[in-house]
This record gives sequence, C-alpha cells and structure tokens, in this order.
Amino acid sequence: MPHAGQWHSGAEEFSAYRHQSIVISPPPRWMDGFVGWSEILGKTYLGEVFHDFKHCADESIRDAQVSGLALIFYYGHTNIGAEGADYDQSPAVDLGGEAGFKTMLDRLHRAGCRVMLLDHLHRWINSEAPQYAADGLSRYAVRDQSGKPIEARWWKETFLSCRRLAGPTPVWHEMCPFCRPWLDVYLRHVTTMIERGVDGLELDTLLPIDACYSAHHGHEVGAKLLPVKLEFLRAVRAHAKALNPEFAIFGEATFPECREHLDGYYPHRFVDENGRIYRYTFPELTQQAVRVGNYAYDAVNKALSLGIGVETEIQGLRTTTLRHCPELARYIGEVNRFKRKHPELLIRGAFRDTVGASAGGGALWSVLEADGAKALVLRNATSKPINTRARLDGVDGQRLVLWRPFKGEKALRRLPVNIHLGPYEPAVLMAMSE
Ligand SMILES: [Zn+2]
Repeated sequence: MPHAGQWHSGAEEFSAYRHQSIVISPPPRWMDGFVGWSEILGKTYLGEVFHDFKHCADESIRDAQVSGLALIFYYGHTNIGAEGADYDQSPAVDLGGEAGFKTMLDRLHRAGCRVMLLDHLHRWINSEAPQYAADGLSRYAVRDQSGKPIEARWWKETFLSCRRLAGPTPVWHEMCPFCRPWLDVYLRHVTTMIERGVDGLELDTLLPIDACYSAHHGHEVGAKLLPVKLEFLRAVRAHAKALNPEFAIFGEATFPECREHLDGYYPHRFVDENGRIYRYTFPELTQQAVRVGNYAYDAVNKALSLGIGVETEIQGLRTTTLRHCPELARYIGEVNRFKRKHPELLIRGAFRDTVGASAGGGALWSVLEADGAKALVLRNATSKPINTRARLDGVDGQRLVLWRPFKGEKALRRLPVNIHLGPYEPAVLMAMSE
C-alpha cells in the first residue's frame, strides 16, 4: 500500500479485520437517542452525603429539563457508599432506604429519565463487610501465586482532588469469574436490580486481573481470566435481557471483544488522538461519552465532533451542571436539541475523522456520515477567534445547511464557505439529499 500520510489507511485495514470476528450486540431501543449522562454522587464511603434519593431526583429532573441529559448515573447508593464495593447492594438507609429509592426511580421515570448505578460487584467485594466472612466468600477470591487473595484499596481522598488517602479505606477482593456459585450470586443481584426498576448498571473496572492461581476453583492453576470474564459477561447479558430487554449494561472498557456483551462504554475520560483512532476503527460505536467538567464547553464540542455523548462530572460529582454551571447546562441542552433533530447523522452517524473535508485557519474538523448525508463539525479549540474556509467533498446537488449554537440553522448556497468562529465555538455544516 502506498504511503498515504496518515493513520487512516492502517486503521481501515485493522477495522475490516476486527469486524470479521466481532459480533455486535444492539443496545436497547431507548439508547437510539443516546446523548450521554449526568453522573452524580450519593454518598462517599466516608459517610458524607451529597444527594440522598429525594435530592437526587429533585436535582436531576431540573438538570435534565435544561441539559437534555435524561440518563442519570447515580454513584454510591449503598450503605458503605461510593467505592465501598458492598456485598449488600440494598439502597442505603441514610439515603432514604428501599422506599426512598423506589420513589426516586418512580419520579425520574415519570420525568422521562433513566437511572444507571455504578457496580463493582461483578468483580470486587469489600472484604471487611460482615457478610464476606459470614458467607465464606473468600472461597471465590482470585488468588495470586502465593495463594493470597488479590486485594485492591480505594486510594482517593476525594473525587475532586485525587489526593492520596492515608486513613481507612475499603479493601476489595477480586472474585473469580470462573466460579459458578459466584456467577449465580451476581445473576441474583442483576435480577434484584431489574425488579427494583433500575435501568442499567455500569460495570466499573470491567476487565479482570491477568490470571487466577487458586487450586480450588476448577480451572487450571494460573488460568487466564480475560476469556473467562467475557463468558461471565455473556451469561450476565443473556440473563438480564431475558428479564428485561431494555436493561442496559455499561462497562469501563473499550476492549473490542466487549462489543458483544455491553450496550455502552465508560472509556474516554478526555478523548485524545487514541480516542479518535478508536472511533475511526469502530465508526458505529456511538454509545460512549466525553467527560465534561466545570465550564468545559470545549469538551461538549469535542463530543459533538466525535459523534458521541457527554458525561457531566461537576465539582467532582458533588452537584449537577445546572446547579453549578447553569450556562454550561443550557449549552449542553442546545447541542442536544440539535443532535436530536438529526439523530441519524449526529447521534448514530459513522465517524470519519478528517476524511473528505478540510478547514483552514486553525479550525479542527471531523466528518460524520449516514445514508448519504454528511456533517462537517468545525470547532475552534482556542481562546482567540478564527476565520476558517470549510470544504466538504462529494456533496454536489445536496441541500446545504449551516448550524451554529443559539443561532440555529440557515441554508447555504455553495461551498467552500468562510466561517468566523469565536473562542471555543463550533459550527456544523450539513449536506442532505432531501
Ligand atoms: Zn479462580
């Protein structure tokens, strides 16, 4: 193959190769309009409460009405709190208990919102929880070469600072996915979540440690756990979908084989060039999100240009976007209204990176495609205004439309077109057949 100057040719070859063997499982229908989620903290393992169940419903409904983010990712719903890795996944008593949790879900559902919970139980259990010893769960713990359980300690003092914690912290043990009794425990947990009315789980830190050296799990000593975990996920998906096809399984991984088992992904915290290459390699993979922190308008634009959703994390998950950054919430809402007006192109369109278009003047650009329609997403990623001259190939005879936030759409007569972009401002040029 001749030198083409960029990574696109190599990525296309790799993409064709990977798509031969990966069977993609379709997400539930309600994710057809997926634009991301807002993540919010219930309580920490230190006992600090940020949103009990009533407060979560109050704040999330208000935020969703403005931001258009109707998937709530609730973090820390159990008695030990976020990162507690509880065996007991009952709704925390001091957040409102079982009744308060049900009322929260009912209110959010009536407001058109869905709720996903962070889940460690697929992999980790707090080894200091009383049930761990009472139920003899160490039988199922992954063992290292010396026979000790694989242990992990939650290491952050807060979610905002990431300062190292010196004091007490949850100690987790990794559970071996090979152990059928453990799989049964997890399937019962999924059943309970579905019966409670939860809409999905985010399987955090999805992929297992390399190998298990237990001599008592029925696998060979030193068995590799990745293929075992994928089979575990296959069973979980089949079980969940049989009970409720609308139940969504998210996971913290973009490992390609996970495509068969997951509906959505919690992978790209900031999305660098690796993220672009991954999007290009799997152009149909739209159920992901770019992390959006305080005032991060540019991250919203990045998500628009990648054709994926946003994940808001404001004040380290301590509050909603509307509460702390109301203008940002309105901006996300404006972008989401535009995306929902053209969902085939802007929500479910295939990502083509920079191929088939160009833009000068320092603008960044990307192309999204669907059924002959194309969108050229332009963005200024700098604090200075720029002038760009944009061109989109292969759109002769098509209707041309230029969208700008809070200014709406207007018809264009021809290309190329000169566009002025203010600091951190995007614009979208669309070519459509009708
Ligand atoms: Zn094992």
